[in-house]
Amino acid sequence: MSEQKVALITGGGGGIGAAMARAVAARGVRIAVTDIDGAAAGRVAAEINERHGAGSAVAFPHDVSVEADCTRAVAETIAAFGSLDILFNNAGISVSTFRPDAETNLPSIAEVTPELMTRFFSINYMGAVHMIRAAVPAMVESGWGRVVNNTTSFITMLRVLPYGPLKAALEASSAVWAQELDGTGVTVNVLVPGGPTDTAFISDGAGIPRAKMLKPEVMGPPAAWLASPESDGITGKRYIAGFWDTALPELDAAKEAGAPIGWPDLATATRLWPGQEPGKGPGMGL
Ligand code: NAD
Repeated sequence: MSEQKVALITGGGGGIGAAMARAVAARGVRIAVTDIDGAAAGRVAAEINERHGAGSAVAFPHDVSVEADCTRAVAETIAAFGSLDILFNNAGISVSTFRPDAETNLPSIAEVTPELMTRFFSINYMGAVHMIRAAVPAMVESGWGRVVNNTTSFITMLRVLPYGPLKAALEASSAVWAQELDGTGVTVNVLVPGGPTDTAFISDGAGIPRAKMLKPEVMGPPAAWLASPESDGITGKRYIAGFWDTALPELDAAKEAGAPIGWPDLATATRLWPGQEPGKGPGMGL
């Protein structure tokens, strides 16, 4: 990479975020690791600095559900490194946070109170909204940028309240943001593991054998590619890290693991829209 880019990874103190931070740093990108657990973020940044040299990473404690925290994390990153070019919206909480077996013994209408729904909405959806609003204007001004959103598998979106439907909102919003930013040099893509992943996110109480889960490291290669100039111009896509074949050249791996964000097939049903031909409706440009 000719010029060193700067990435911020939310929820980078552990699990998938830490795995992506390590892989993106190995690609020569400087990293702001942020997490509500500031000590965990500090440990990941220290490890990156040890491996890639002092000044490769910084860490900030940061709650994505608080707008002022997000604005501050972006400002602190720019103060530390001079720019913020790449945003990974990764921080999130799981249903294991309110009941250890909730991933498999699914939450009911009665259990998902408005307070619980709001908590998941504030972190898993609004966290990404706050970060994008804080980080994207400077990317657009510079003519280059990346937003990578970690949603979830489609099956989970249709199965697990309150987590899944709110990740569906982030998935749909990602398609909208990709369209809005098309042509600015700032791309918006979704990157998901593709299935249950062996992190603290899934409690042992769920009863899913850890040996059968994906490892968080699968997110590294596609994350590093998305952070690099090799993915210039690629936007509105959804990558399943578990399908990323590291034996292939990156563009071929991306073709195998990628598809348009969201539900474009359903968006072809536009004949009820005034003036629209089937398959040529809103959102079909991705
Ligand atoms: P994890 O629990 O290991 O890591 C999540 C990190 O986010 C933690 O370090 C935590 O401290 C941080 N965090 C929590 N609330 C925060 C807040 N308000 N502000 C800032 N940081 C906060 O989980 P993970 O498996 O690494 O999950 C990372 C992302 O991957 C999540 O968005 C999750 O929805 C998504 N995901 C996970 C799986 C899976 O099976 N593990 C599958 C698909 C998608």
